[in-house]
Amino acid sequence: MADSKRDYYEVLGVDRNADEETLKKAYRVLAKKYHPDMHPDDKEAEAKFKEASEAYAVLSDPEKRKQYDQFGHAAFDGGAGGGGFGGFDFSGADFSDIFGDIFGDFFGGGRSSRYSSRSNGPMKGANIRTSIRITFMEAITGVDKEIELTLKDECKTCHGSGARPGSTPETCPKCGGKGQVVNIQQSFFGTVRNIQTCPDCHGTGKIIKDKCPDCGGTGYIASRKKIAVTIPAGIDNGQSVRIRGKGEPGVNGGERGDLLVEVIVSSHPMFRRQDQNIYSTVPLSFAVAALGGEVLIDTVDGRVAYEVKPGTQTDTRVRLKGKGVPSTRYKDVRGDHYVTLVVQTPDKLSHEAKELLKQFDMATGDSLNAVKRAGMASDDSEKKKKFWK
Ligand SMILES: [Zn+2]
Ligand SMILES: [Zn+2]
Repeated sequence: MADSKRDYYEVLGVDRNADEETLKKAYRVLAKKYHPDMHPDDKEAEAKFKEASEAYAVLSDPEKRKQYDQFGHAAFDGGAGGGGFGGFDFSGADFSDIFGDIFGDFFGGGRSSRYSSRSNGPMKGANIRTSIRITFMEAITGVDKEIELTLKDECKTCHGSGARPGSTPETCPKCGGKGQVVNIQQSFFGTVRNIQTCPDCHGTGKIIKDKCPDCGGTGYIASRKKIAVTIPAGIDNGQSVRIRGKGEPGVNGGERGDLLVEVIVSSHPMFRRQDQNIYSTVPLSFAVAALGGEVLIDTVDGRVAYEVKPGTQTDTRVRLKGKGVPSTRYKDVRGDHYVTLVVQTPDKLSHEAKELLKQFDMATGDSLNAVKRAGMASDDSEKKKKFWK
């Protein structure tokens, strides 16, 4: 029969030097595909599943793999069973682990041991997440806020045990107080040991027969609480503030989880922020851009005067050092404020202003395209006068 069997590597579709992970992956894929639970009464699927399981059982065991590599299927012939699958010894293979994965994927974790197992020792409570909206300026300066949320506290009546005062929770008979049960599954290829959270006590190791009347046996009382949130200066949109010990209560004497408050920062009509820097644009009159002068620029610290150089072009960017966002990490460290100066072309002109601009143009030579197109030289002032008529 050795000759009729397919090569184990071929069955799993892997290289001869495939590592443990690759084998496992390949087997998982096949086991999922052909698992009898998914194909009731399908003999072919069952045969494929057995074939893959056998291949994996051998190749995942270093000792057996070595023998197989050396002698092929003959390595396992003539043993106790000899008759193929039925007599095969699977005791060495780690199926519980892999089926934990597979069933975890398939059946929503119901049969999985890996993701739900826990001990009944002290466990920190879960974190609670919430969010708060603040203004752009509050993010720059920092702000103290208050949020209201429902928090669980240990029940004063039963001190968190969940049992009626005077009674004591019993040790769970199913798991003997361990919170976990070992589930032994007999399958056609051997015994699979599966460690699961105890279904009777849900991992606590205790069974409450006489429940506390105030908390209904949960051990907790939920109430609305106001919690102060100190938001540091410089916080950015999407960052969270952690408030220790304001999450869910711990289990079996574990500490409370934390409250994580995500900060959502509203946008500002004038300022835009990127990391530690602030960006804004400031309009500049044509005359000031040409002649230079003082402009007032709004910053998060208030208005500041800025001296514009004569001959400033539009879209010139200036830096106001240290007028940006404060660092949440380092004291006295701040980003910068970058201002883009945008030169405004005048569009509503009085008659007088128009006349002055014509004079200006005549005085400044050939800078205007219109004048160039008219074919005039810079000193051709008589022609220019006519052009502007
Ligand atoms: Zn209680
Ligand atoms: Zn139990």
